[in-house]
Amino acid sequence: MSWQKELREAYKSIEELSAFLNYPIAVTPFPILIPRPLAQKIKLAGPDSALWKQFVPDLFENDPQGMADPIGDRPHQRAPRVIHRYTNRALLLVTNTCPVHCRYCFRQNELSPDDVLFNGKGDASLQYLRENPQIEEVILSGGDPLILSNSKLDQIFTQLANIDSIRYLRFHSRMPVIIPGRVDGEFSELIKKWSRHFQQISFVVHLNHNSEIDSSVEAAFERLNSLPLQLMSQSVLLRGVNDSLEDLLQLFKKLIAFKIRPLYLHHPDQVRGGMHFTLPLEKGRRIYRELRNLLPGWAIPQYVVDLPDGGGKTEAYNPEGLQFSGNFLDRHLRDTQFIDRGPSKN
Ligand SMILES: *Cc1c(COP(=O)(O)O)cnc(C)c1O
Ligand code: SF4
Repeated sequence: MSWQKELREAYKSIEELSAFLNYPIAVTPFPILIPRPLAQKIKLAGPDSALWKQFVPDLFENDPQGMADPIGDRPHQRAPRVIHRYTNRALLLVTNTCPVHCRYCFRQNELSPDDVLFNGKGDASLQYLRENPQIEEVILSGGDPLILSNSKLDQIFTQLANIDSIRYLRFHSRMPVIIPGRVDGEFSELIKKWSRHFQQISFVVHLNHNSEIDSSVEAAFERLNSLPLQLMSQSVLLRGVNDSLEDLLQLFKKLIAFKIRPLYLHHPDQVRGGMHFTLPLEKGRRIYRELRNLLPGWAIPQYVVDLPDGGGKTEAYNPEGLQFSGNFLDRHLRDTQFIDRGPSKN
């Protein structure tokens, strides 16, 4: 099945999904989107699995607590689709669409179910990048940038290549684990072509659990590995999904076996609809401390938390103490925002 067909035929309604999974699906305000091959994996794994919990709606999503914009992106939006928080790099939100809807998504309240592409408003975004030559890296995000066709990506690259100050490109994408077939021959050609122009192209794949990696995902990893890319990963620490030493060790060991360097482990954001995935910093720190003991330094991601006021990524680990809330929490957050909510698998 082509990746476009996988997208078109994805399960999008409670009726379709509950019929397929043979399970009553919770009614919540957030959309459903699961490509069929992934739904098949979810069904096999069952309701208690890391796969199921990440993608199948849960009644806890109706909890009204949490924030619509939990990482304070809005104040940093400088032009349509440009989020410029750090001096030398900016996010370019090339689409609002993803190949899947993750139940914990920090953009949960912003993603659009429609295919809003990088059209029309693109000029103002590019102009901003042109007028701010301190921006050396453009991070293609969204949504998922690989939802765009290869020719659309080629167009965007062409425009970015015309801006002298841009030397690095980066993808943040969940696609290789959701629709692995998206990493196709044409995409490979695109990367090879543009790697000659840019100093570095990085690819950060988003995944949270070893069970997301099957043979087709492995094949996508192999293909990515054959390209002139710096390959890295980011994961979200999620209650009931991967909040144990064993789960994370297994994930990171698998990633390094495929030469994917773990870059970030995100502490979950306080997003409305995703509060049941949150866990106390202390628990994350306990796990992280053990990871440092059991993995080489180059296999350990940075454990970070995004400050709700838009302060950006901050170290979540603090070697001084597991309960230490430090300046950043005292200054920016009430500690109580990191309290326990929802059910525990333990
Ligand atoms: C995470 C993020 C980046 C990337 O930061 P790195 O430290 O380079 O990984 C850039 N811009 C925004 C707005 C971000 O949230
Ligand atoms: S892929 Fe990322 S942006 Fe898209 S739904 Fe999942 S967490 Fe949200």
